Amino acid sequence: MKSDATWFVGPWELSSATAVLPPAPDAGRVLLVESTSKGAALPYHRKKLVLVLSALRHLRDELRARGFEVDHRVAPSYAEGIRDHWAAFRPAAIHYQPPAEWGIGQSFERLAETLPAMAALPDHRFLTSRHDFAAWAEGRTLFRMEDFYRWQRRRLKLLIDGQGRPEGGAWNFDRGNRKTAAALRKETRPARPLGFTPDEVTGRVMRLVDTMPDHWGGTEGFDLPVTAAQAEACLEDFLAHRLERFGPFEDAMLTGEAWLYHSRLSAAMNVGLLHPRAVVDRTLAWWADRRGAEGAAAVLPSVEGFLRQVIGWREYVNGIYWLTMPGYRDRNYFGFSRPLPRLYWEPERTEMACLRETAGTVREHGYAHHIPRLMVLANFATLAGVHPMRLSEWFWAGFTDAMEWVELPNVVGMATFADGGLLATKPYVSSAAYIDRMSDYCQRCRFDPARRTGPGACPFNYLYWTFLDDLRRRQLDVGQRMALVMKSLDRLSADDLAAMRAERERFLAELEPERTGWRIDYDAG
Ligand code: FAD
Ligand code: SF4
Repeated sequence: MKSDATWFVGPWELSSATAVLPPAPDAGRVLLVESTSKGAALPYHRKKLVLVLSALRHLRDELRARGFEVDHRVAPSYAEGIRDHWAAFRPAAIHYQPPAEWGIGQSFERLAETLPAMAALPDHRFLTSRHDFAAWAEGRTLFRMEDFYRWQRRRLKLLIDGQGRPEGGAWNFDRGNRKTAAALRKETRPARPLGFTPDEVTGRVMRLVDTMPDHWGGTEGFDLPVTAAQAEACLEDFLAHRLERFGPFEDAMLTGEAWLYHSRLSAAMNVGLLHPRAVVDRTLAWWADRRGAEGAAAVLPSVEGFLRQVIGWREYVNGIYWLTMPGYRDRNYFGFSRPLPRLYWEPERTEMACLRETAGTVREHGYAHHIPRLMVLANFATLAGVHPMRLSEWFWAGFTDAMEWVELPNVVGMATFADGGLLATKPYVSSAAYIDRMSDYCQRCRFDPARRTGPGACPFNYLYWTFLDDLRRRQLDVGQRMALVMKSLDRLSADDLAAMRAERERFLAELEPERTGWRIDYDAG
């Protein structure tokens, strides 16, 4: 006899690894909703739409094959889908985990006021609950990721010896990581991450998405995992072929190489195909098999570096998001107002090789690894004075792994310092020197990374130095870690700075603004 209850499964928990399901097939039904307003709220990358819709439909089919009753609906919003379901089935309870996005969470709270059947469950998708994070943050004035990470390592007893000390004698080994593009070029390149030929369900979704106007990127070449089994296979593929070199080459960038030694697991994790606990457990098991072997010490920085991203950064930005919303969307420490440059959507419109390559990679794959996101795409937007929310909207729309809880703190906090230093200890800005060292882009560029002014001068250079000069003039606090960099401004003459200002004005005047007719409905869903 089926119980009179429903379990709602959102698009951020699309597998039994992260969803909370009826305890048995005859213990209730499952509700899956495709929200049309959510899909239309931004010009999302078509590969992202394929990922979400295909994973949802695969879960539907899998649950039905296991004997569950599944109500799969297309509705104007998740809340309206739930209301329609309730009208059709009248369940006594509709169980749901808290939505992953603030705006959708608000609509669920409003729904619960008029629909008493709504029954909230604890969030089961992260290693750190919102409550645990708030307890960690309580009484702190600085919410540093490094402090959170050490707390997390101790709490989860992860890479910690019997005396509570970090394995290998250090909490992180980043000093030895950060190998350059020149070092990377001497290595054999890793194989492309495991991908999957679209099956019938995915193929049908691709054809549907192809008919949707106003979205970015193409569906062709879609090969992301869309089931939990496929996502687990991707994790194994990463452990077997790329983790060992993840640490040393984490920051390097090469033309035509989107993933290098990165895991490409974020999209699968963020739609719930893979639980972070599984990523941690499998990585630790992989490490346990090697720990005693010759040369293992050289691999520890990769293991620690990777786990730091998963138990540290990923959990931390989720905590910061829920701690700061909805006000986090209004942060604009530098008071920037420039629209997003058109080149982000149409990378062929720039001659700057680094931007053309990285924005082009995003348009092709809905992906770029962390350093192109931070040190090319966001760095340029900050130096050019782009409004942080215009950049945030592009990141939210353009990446297959983007959801507001993770994109917003990364853009507003980590990348652009728009929160004034709540999250990051300094603005992540650099001149061409960093990009030249960490990539091969400058070798293919018409600009010269060594020139600050004159013919062929690299825009990153004059934008960077005049940005620093503006900070000095405005006496803005950008953290102690910038002290040395700010001091280096003293080495530039007033004439030099004036020439760079003139270059900047000319360059910015020619920078075409984006040409989108849309404005995001942040709380759509
Ligand atoms: P790897 O480099 O292999 O890292 C392993 C995992 O750690 C990732 O899969 C991810 O789950 C987690 N992780 C690593 N860094 C971060 C971080 N800073 N914040 C949260 N999780 C992290 N990540 C997203 O998942 N979605 C986003 O929308 C997103 N937007 C970003 C925007 C900017 C401006 C920046 C600088 C970073 C952003 N990130 C985002 C974080 C990070 O760049 C991606 O998680 C990572 O590049 C995904 O690729 P990967 O799976 O190969 O990661
Ligand atoms: Fe980018 Fe400047 Fe290098 Fe060209 S020279 S790739 S614009 S950093």
